Amino acid sequence: MPADADCVFCKIASGQLPASIVRQNQTWMAFLDITPLSEGHLLVIPKDHYLTLSELPDEVCGQIGSALPTLGRALIQVTGADGFNLLQNNGPVAGQVVPHVHFHLIPRRHDDGLGYRWNAGKYAPGREADVISAFRNALA
Ligand code: 5GP
Ligand code: ZN
Repeated sequence: MPADADCVFCKIASGQLPASIVRQNQTWMAFLDITPLSEGHLLVIPKDHYLTLSELPDEVCGQIGSALPTLGRALIQVTGADGFNLLQNNGPVAGQVVPHVHFHLIPRRHDDGLGYRWNAGKYAPGREADVISAFRNALA
């Protein structure tokens, strides 16, 4: 995937723009979010330009995914946080602002006041079976 000349994360990946990098390899880079939700808020990006998770090749996603436990442990050690959220927004409707796929690791504390609405619902009678069937067909 070629870099996108207008993409801020492509510029960070190529070194055109500075970032506070905590770890990187050939495939991915982890750096501090410039406007953190809490101190130590990390972003992990593939170095190549992909818009969303759906476009990310399995191999690249696998490399990033296998780095997440280590990054999470470091985040807890460095920040002393009580826990962390792994957040990954796909598309503007889901809150994605930077159109280059990325994973947020957000340190959490019991009294941090962060949160989101989790308006849990219920399936209408019979609907769950329809949804399961649609998924199984899509994944067949
Ligand atoms: P999104 O809403 O797209 O999931 O999150 C994008 C994140 O990228 C935001 O948390 C924002 O603070 C961060 N961000 C945007 N531009 C830059 C930048 O130039 N450098 C760094 N380090 N983070 C950025
Ligand atoms: Zn990009």
